Amino acid sequence: MIDRILEYNSQFVAEKAYEPYAASKFPAKKLAILSCMDTRLTELLPKALGLKSGDAKIITNAGGTVLSDTDSSIRSLLVAIYELGAEEVMVIHHTDCGACHMSYAHFKPMMLEKGITAETLSAWEERGVAAWLEGFHDTEASVRKTVAAVKNHPLIPSSVVVRGFIMETTTGALTEVL
Ligand code: ZN
Repeated sequence: MIDRILEYNSQFVAEKAYEPYAASKFPAKKLAILSCMDTRLTELLPKALGLKSGDAKIITNAGGTVLSDTDSSIRSLLVAIYELGAEEVMVIHHTDCGACHMSYAHFKPMMLEKGITAETLSAWEERGVAAWLEGFHDTEASVRKTVAAVKNHPLIPSSVVVRGFIMETTTGALTEVL
């Protein structure tokens, strides 16, 4: 698949198909979005929000969550805010998310099957892999927790507006979590 993508890429550049996407690195809408990496949202999320290239910094991970105060998503938000001028943050989870009900108990047999040794897993269990790979079980509660983690982060200025939403994965409809 990657080889086919590389072929397409050469053609894309040769045909100057990139021209409609020219944009500044500074988000035109002064907006950062933390959301899920779900493939169904790749095009739907920006389209449903009326965003085009250059409008917003979109940060994604499994679920759109923040796991700790040094989480990579917080690091990205700090860059978006301080370096790139973002003033508002939307946390967007979505319906039917794969990170909902995710658990280490489900990963473990698949990891063993793919050749990860029991010794490696046991070492990672001591490092807390089970909690690390645990998903959320209540989407609304997870949005609230994520919004609080961003809003109350000591390095995020209080002037930054942080609001949380759940997107309906088929229609793109947003519902605010208050
Ligand atoms: Zn998801």
